[in-house]
Amino acid sequence: MGKKEIVTHSSEETIELGRQVGAQLKPPLLVLLFGELGAGKTTLTKGIVSALGAAEEDQVTSPTFTLVHKYEQGSVVYHVDLYRVGDFQDLETLGLEDFLTEQAILIIEWPEKLAIRTDWPKLRINLKHESEDSRRISIDDDEVLLDPMEGNAASSRHRPII
Ligand code: ADP
Ligand code: MG
Repeated sequence: MGKKEIVTHSSEETIELGRQVGAQLKPPLLVLLFGELGAGKTTLTKGIVSALGAAEEDQVTSPTFTLVHKYEQGSVVYHVDLYRVGDFQDLETLGLEDFLTEQAILIIEWPEKLAIRTDWPKLRINLKHESEDSRRISIDDDEVLLDPMEGNAASSRHRPII
């Protein structure tokens, strides 16, 4: 439990890590992806979304301009990129609050751009450039494991995400 650090050496490895993580997630859940531009947040999301069965890997693209993509082939996953969100905006004006009423998995790139008020369990993932093709990815699954929220994966509560 706690923090896991993995270094991936290609985008394919990052997608594979995303698949391993995604295979163990149950809604409702907020997945917060921290890291600079190009750190691999969207790449990781491809794996998470495909493992959840919500879309094919190739269908997962950056929601930089639209802010939100919804993948709903089977389970429902919202993929949000707050990079371009204005300072004056909040979750309410973006309509993200409505997503939080659904049994969904909400993946957020640049979560530090907005105050997100919810009691949903959170999985925090940090991505860092190590070199051109290497990324250090740390996954902090404490809250997911400890949060007693109903509906969250009871089966995953006592073991680490990966
Ligand atoms: P972000 O969403 O964080 O801005 P992206 O996932 O869109 O980042 O982009 C990451 C870029 O880095 C892609 O062009 C990808 O091919 C490249 N890349 C190289 N090595 C890796 C790796 N190990 N993990 C993830 N992406 C990598
Ligand atoms: Mg991105």
